Formats: sequence, C-alpha cells, structure tokens
Amino acid sequence: MLPTRSTRFIQKSLLLLLTLATALAASAAEKTLSPAEQTKLLQSILDRTAQAAAAGKSPAAAFDIDDTLMRTSPRTKAILLEFAGKHGERFPGLLERVSRLDPLTGPHGIVPTLEFLGITTDEQKTEIKKYWLPRFLGNDYLTFDWPIPGALAFVQALREKGATIYYITARSPERMMEGTKKALVHFGFPLDARAILAMNDTHKPAPEFKGKRTEAIGKTHELTGLFENEPDNLNAMHRAATAAQAVFIDTVKSPAAGPVDSGIPWIKDYKR
Ligand SMILES: [Mg+2]
Repeated sequence: MLPTRSTRFIQKSLLLLLTLATALAASAAEKTLSPAEQTKLLQSILDRTAQAAAAGKSPAAAFDIDDTLMRTSPRTKAILLEFAGKHGERFPGLLERVSRLDPLTGPHGIVPTLEFLGITTDEQKTEIKKYWLPRFLGNDYLTFDWPIPGALAFVQALREKGATIYYITARSPERMMEGTKKALVHFGFPLDARAILAMNDTHKPAPEFKGKRTEAIGKTHELTGLFENEPDNLNAMHRAATAAQAVFIDTVKSPAAGPVDSGIPWIKDYKR
C-alpha cells in the first residue's frame, strides 16, 4: 500500500521529533565532562592551588555540602524507613516499598518521593512530611548521607596542596551545626583551622549568603575552586570570585533553579 499524504506527514513529523530529541539528549550530555576532561579539570584546580601556596597566596576552595559533597536522599530514606516501621499498621506495605527505594535513582524531593512510594492522599502526605521535615533539617540523621565518590579524596588532596577548605552551607546553624560537624568528622572530612564550616548565620536566601561569604573569603585567600549543586548558588559564588574555577556538581537540584552560567563545567562526582 502506498503511503497516503497523512501517513507521510506523520512519518516526517516523527522523524523531526526524533532528530530534536537526539539533539537535546546530546546537548544535555555535552554539558557533563568526559572522565578524561574531569580528571584534567580537577588536576588543574590542584595545580593552581599548589602554585598559589608556593607564591604565598593562601589558596582556598569552597564546597557546598548537601548534594555537593554528600548525597542527601539516603537521609530521607532513613527517616521514611523509621516512619514506616512505626506506622506499619496504618501504612501496610510502605516499609517494603521504602526498603526497595534506590536513593541515587529515585525521585528528588519529599513529595515526588512519597508519590513514587504510592502515598497519594494529601492527608497522608502531610502526616509523613510533618514527620520527615524536622528530622531532615535537624542534627540527628546527617550521618545517613552518602559522601559523593571521590569527594573526600579530592578535599584531602586540596589540603595537601595547601588549600584552606570552606564548607559553605545554607544549613541552619541553630538546628544543624552539631550534626553537621559530627557528620563531617564521621566521614573523615577535615574540620579544623584550615577546614572551616560556614553556615547560614545571616538567614538570608542561600545565593545571597553564599555570594557574600565567597566574596569575603576572596579578600584573604586566593580561591581556586567553587563547588555547588544549586545553579543559583553557584552563579552567585562565581560572580563573587570570577577568577576561581566554578564547578557545577550535577547531582540533583531544585526544580525552580535557573540555568548554570555558561562556561561553567559540569561533573557528577570527584573521580580522578
Ligand atoms: Mg546543595
């Protein structure tokens, strides 16, 4: 049977869609560096750090914590397991479903996670969120986070080259300082006079706090690397220290986030 005009139109449209989808996928993939490019990028930051130290310029590198050095979805999983264990009678099957949740490939955010787990009513979502929120934003569950591959070794390597490490986090000092310090030490991250925890004591929005903190560090140090998973925060840090190498950590990000400034490389971990 000869193709009619309409089937030809459908075929053409499908081909066009396929071409567009392929181009989009390619442009998304292009943003993340290849393993060889990643190795080169991380090495260049180490080299620059060593050069700055040799020149007596007090090098420093700044890292966000949540989903930049540590994945936070395992923390959510731990809290949901606890909830499911306590309330198994009212939520039959939930423990099993949470057990099977893969923190690295599951949805990002508590509501999409609950929906993925089959929690559909607003009442149930509200109840679980109420249980989850103070625990997620508290001191007691932070050691459930998972360090991102290569993060610890890279931070240690920067230190060996002479860098001061700044952990610039929007976590609340009132609610999370004790747990944040405990978790860093728990995973072997340095915390001392040359590895400084900077929490959001300004209570300003994260991009403003992080931009200002970065600017202040730049006055006393030569910043060589800036690492963040939230585009708005990273752009603010980058604009406050344009000479530093900004690096976007492509793990998860807020659905409301804007684009990452162009020219900033993307990596998913710190493997070298
Ligand atoms: Mg983060």
